[in-house]
Amino acid sequence: MSDKIQAVRGMNDIPPSEIPYWRFIEDTARRVLDAYGFREIRMPIVEKTDLFRRSIGEVTDIVEKEMYTFPDRRGDSLTLRPEATASMVRAGVQHNLFDRVRRLWCTGPMFRYERPQKGRYRQFHQLDVEVFGVPGAEVDAELILILSRLWRELGMQNLALEINSLGSKETQARYRQTLVDFFQDYREQLDEDSTRRLTTNPLRILDSKNPEMRQLIESAPKLIEQLDAESLEHFEMLKQILSNSAVPFTVNPRLVRGLDYYTRTVFEWVTTELGSQGAVCGGGRYDGLIEEIGGKATPATGFALGMERLVELLKLHEVQPPTAVSHVYLIALGEAARTRVHALAERLRDGIPDLRLTVDAGSDSAKKKMRNADRSEAPLALIVGDDEIANETVSVKHLRETSDQQNLSIEKLINLLKHQLAAGAW
Ligand code: AMP
Repeated sequence: MSDKIQAVRGMNDIPPSEIPYWRFIEDTARRVLDAYGFREIRMPIVEKTDLFRRSIGEVTDIVEKEMYTFPDRRGDSLTLRPEATASMVRAGVQHNLFDRVRRLWCTGPMFRYERPQKGRYRQFHQLDVEVFGVPGAEVDAELILILSRLWRELGMQNLALEINSLGSKETQARYRQTLVDFFQDYREQLDEDSTRRLTTNPLRILDSKNPEMRQLIESAPKLIEQLDAESLEHFEMLKQILSNSAVPFTVNPRLVRGLDYYTRTVFEWVTTELGSQGAVCGGGRYDGLIEEIGGKATPATGFALGMERLVELLKLHEVQPPTAVSHVYLIALGEAARTRVHALAERLRDGIPDLRLTVDAGSDSAKKKMRNADRSEAPLALIVGDDEIANETVSVKHLRETSDQQNLSIEKLINLLKHQLAAGAW
C-alpha cells in the first residue's frame, strides 16, 4: 500500500460529528443578521496580493509573516485571503454597492501561516459582519448588541467584552511619536521585530507576542490618554449606549488589534476558558480604508468572529446543537422489497416534508443492515420484506428504547411519524 496522504499542517477537516455545532452557529447567525437588516455577500478566497498589503499594512504580522502568497501561472502575485474585510471592501467598491447596501456579512475560510496550536490554525473560519457609510458610535454599539444576542441565542454566557478607542489617524500619528520617544529609551530591551518596527510602524510593537516584551509594553504610554476631542465623544457615546442596553464591558487601553486600518472604536470578546487563544471575536471601525483602496471616502465598522473557537466553547459548555441524523432507517429485505422501498420512501417524504430518511436497499444481509441501522443513530428502523409487501404494511422497530416490533399500515406509519416529529420526540 502507498503512504496515506495527510491534510496540510494546520488545516483541518470538519468531521460529520462536528457539523451540528457549525450549522447551529451559522443558522443562528443568519437568523440574527437577517433580523438586523444585513445582506450576505460571497467573495473569492484568492485576491491580488496588493489588496492586503495596502489595507492590512505592510508592517504587520499578517503581511510580513503569515500570508499564503504565490505567483499564478502568468506571474501575478495572488494571496489566499487572511481576513475578509479587505475583500468585502474591494467587492463593494468594484460593484458600487455601498450607496445601496450598507450592511453586509459573509462567512468562510481564512488562511494565515501561523504556528498551529489549539485554537490557532492555518486555515480557519470567520463570520464577518460590516456596516458601511455610517460614521457614528451608534452603529459600533449595534454590532456589539448583535453579538450579545448571538451569544444569548447560542447559550454562551461567559464571554467578556473589552473595548478601546484608537482615535483618529491624526491622533495615531501623534501617538506614534510618543511611542518612538518612549521605546528609544529602552532600545536594548527591544527584540529584533520591535527594533525594526520602531522605525517602520511603532504601533505594531504593541502587538508583540514575545512574553519578554510584555512588561515593557505594559509600561508604555497609552493612546487612550491622548484621544482627540471627537474620538473621545465617539467613545463616550459607545459606552453610554452599551450601559443603557445593559451590556457589561471593560475598557482595555492595551487593546490595539493587529491591523493598521482601525480608527476609533476597537473591541474584542474574550474568554479565559480556551487557554492562550482566548479571543473569540474582534472588530472595530476603519473609516479610512475604503478610500485607501480606491473607493470614495466611506466610514465603516465591523467584526470577525472565529468559528473554531466558538465551536470549542459550545462543546465545553455541553451545548447540544440540533443534529441532522436520520429519523428513520428504512431497510429492504429480499429482492422484491429492494425494488419497492424507494417508492415507499418517496411516499413518506411527500407525506412528511420534515422527515429525514435513509434508505438501505443494498444487497447486505439482514444482520448487516440492522447493524447499519444501529450505527446510523436513527431512532427508528422500518423493515420491508416479502410479508410486508404482501400485506401492504411496514415493520417498525424502535432502536433506542426497548419495545416490541410493530406492524403498521402505511397510513398508520405516516401518522406515527408525524406525531413523533410534532412532539419533538426526535
Ligand atoms: P482577527 O482577524 O485576527 O482579528 O481575528 C478575528 C477572530 O478570528 C479572532 O478573535 C479569532 O477568534 C479568530 N482567529 C484569528 N486567527 C485565527 C487562527 N489562526 N486560528 C483560529 N482562529 C483564528
